[in-house]
Amino acid sequence: MPSAKIQSNLKRRGVALLLGALWLAGCGKPKFEPVEIAAEDMCAFCKMAISEKQYAAEFLNRDGDVFKYDEIGCMASYVAEKKVGDSVAAFYVVDFHSKRWLKAEEADFIISPNFHTPMGGGMVAFKDRSRAEAAAAANQGRLISFAEALQWRGKVGR
Ligand SMILES: [Zn+2]
Repeated sequence: MPSAKIQSNLKRRGVALLLGALWLAGCGKPKFEPVEIAAEDMCAFCKMAISEKQYAAEFLNRDGDVFKYDEIGCMASYVAEKKVGDSVAAFYVVDFHSKRWLKAEEADFIISPNFHTPMGGGMVAFKDRSRAEAAAAANQGRLISFAEALQWRGKVGR
């Protein structure tokens, strides 16, 4: 009876599919990834073009919508003004050294007038603590956490 074996295989596959669907619907959290800056992108806060990736920042909300910024200070201002805190799924910033995205919570931030960010906030992010410390020392900068970076509203004189 070869058909019985096939049926049992089909049944097993059906169960696997069902379990997969349940997993996707239930406990499978959507996975968030940084979204690359496109040429036509503009800052969600100041509406300027995002032309220098090393200063850029973005967040994704729980629906997967991305909000991009030309500098970290604009993201901080937007988050405070629009009170979006609870709807944010993931914050990303660009490592000033490698120009690669990283989770904002894993970055160190430096504020210095030597960083000529688009809106004058003077804040950049680093993936490596040692690079951040070296850059802070070389630029008379202040090394801060992401929580502190979100509070930064100022402009550095230049
Ligand atoms: Zn901006």
